[in-house]
Amino acid sequence: MATTDAQLNTNWSGTIAYRAGRRVRPTSVEELRSVLREAPSVKVTGSGHSFNYVADSENGWQIDLSGLVEPPVVSADHSTVEVSGGTTYGALVPFLAQEGLALANLASLPHITVAGSVATGTHGSGARQPGLAASVQAVQLMTADGDLRWFDRSDPRFPALVVSLGALGVVTRLRLSIEPEFEVRQDTFVGLTWAQLTAELGTILESAYSVSVFGRWVGPGPDHIVLKSRTDQRSDAPVLPGAEWIADTKHPSWASGEPSEKVTEQGGAPGLWSDRLPHFRMGFTPSSGEEIQSEFFVPAAHGAAAAEALLQIGERIAPMIIVSEIRAVAADGQWLSPTYDRDSVVFHFTWRPDTAATSEAADLVQQALAPFDPRPHWGKLFTYAGRLDAAYPRLDDFEAVRRELDPSGAFLNDFLRRHVASD
Ligand SMILES: Cc1cc2nc3c(=O)[nH]c(=O)nc-3n(C[C@H](O)[C@H](O)[C@H](O)COP(=O)(O)OP(=O)(O)OC[C@H]3O[C@@H](n4cnc5c(N)ncnc54)[C@H](O)[C@@H]3O)c2cc1C
Repeated sequence: MATTDAQLNTNWSGTIAYRAGRRVRPTSVEELRSVLREAPSVKVTGSGHSFNYVADSENGWQIDLSGLVEPPVVSADHSTVEVSGGTTYGALVPFLAQEGLALANLASLPHITVAGSVATGTHGSGARQPGLAASVQAVQLMTADGDLRWFDRSDPRFPALVVSLGALGVVTRLRLSIEPEFEVRQDTFVGLTWAQLTAELGTILESAYSVSVFGRWVGPGPDHIVLKSRTDQRSDAPVLPGAEWIADTKHPSWASGEPSEKVTEQGGAPGLWSDRLPHFRMGFTPSSGEEIQSEFFVPAAHGAAAAEALLQIGERIAPMIIVSEIRAVAADGQWLSPTYDRDSVVFHFTWRPDTAATSEAADLVQQALAPFDPRPHWGKLFTYAGRLDAAYPRLDDFEAVRRELDPSGAFLNDFLRRHVASD
């Protein structure tokens, strides 16, 4: 079986160096099984778009699943699609679009793998849109003993199986719910003040299918606000009281100099879901490329107060910010989901790629958000030191499933030992 160099030595932005005793790319289920039987410890890397050591294999083996990717398979009734453990949204989305089918929601970029995304609780935006994990109907897992099993929603352990941080086994296949294709228009607004935003934050975040507020916590107000509306759900042009509609397409970081060619079309022109739901186009480097990201989730009811707390520290954190984004995400039932059991307002930060200075800025954000019961994004930088059981109330339930499915801890790494494992 192939030991390969063509794998990830760093994360996507080069800010995390992955350690690996050996890098392997199995090309059959049997090869994957023998990896799991032979390796002292293992970790799958998806597309390496996380900003911490969640995907690090340390001295164990790093597994690349790209050799096992098969074409997506749509169910006969067109309600689900089955994908491989290494499939990216960049491959799945055009496939579904060609079939006249759609996913309900997407993250800001399509470049990431489905398995890696749902493993960390990746989300898009929408007060009534849960994170991407909510579309997962079933997971096929190869556990450390080489056993290959499907888990679906009827299994009482299912709430641990999707947002699983790669800690339970190798996700070899996923079944996702899909729907008929739909169109979306993106409308961009400028000119709202911070006071107007915080006074109406809940209403603004509920004013379209998906809403993103971009800014840097300084100046008179946010840089711009993007409303993504499904044309099958509303026929009128969306309005944002107090703000001005603009025809331009704006990169999330336009105020930091990023060009609009990297992003999907705005200006109110309807287009297929696949060309409007992500912020970034597949053929371009998403975001800015040289960056670190952090993100924190607070209960929706605290969203405005949390935003006001961030404005208080705006001048101190702004020098490190390329752009910040406020989104809403609906509650789901995955135990380790950052939106488990609570509708949330989410504060994202794209930081300049200086780990020490970014950690200080993230620390300031964590202090400012502390009164609002924040949960960190599992795939982004945070500075909380120990086990995250205060933020994630079902961590012990997740741990019970992890110990059952991976009793030897073959899928543990230092990140999981520190923030998740109870022994
Ligand atoms: C430019 C950019 C924009 C982003 N935008 C968003 C956004 O809009 N919303 C958001 O929530 N996040 C966003 N993120 C974060 C990103 O979605 C997450 O970090 C996601 O986990 C990345 O997926 P990946 O395939 O790169 O996974 P990786 O980072 O490679 O892995 C993540 C975890 O999944 C595990 N894993 C991966 N595949 C498997 C498998 N087959 N079996 C078992 N375990 C597996 C890994 O071991 C690891 O624990 C963004 C990141 C970047 C760089």
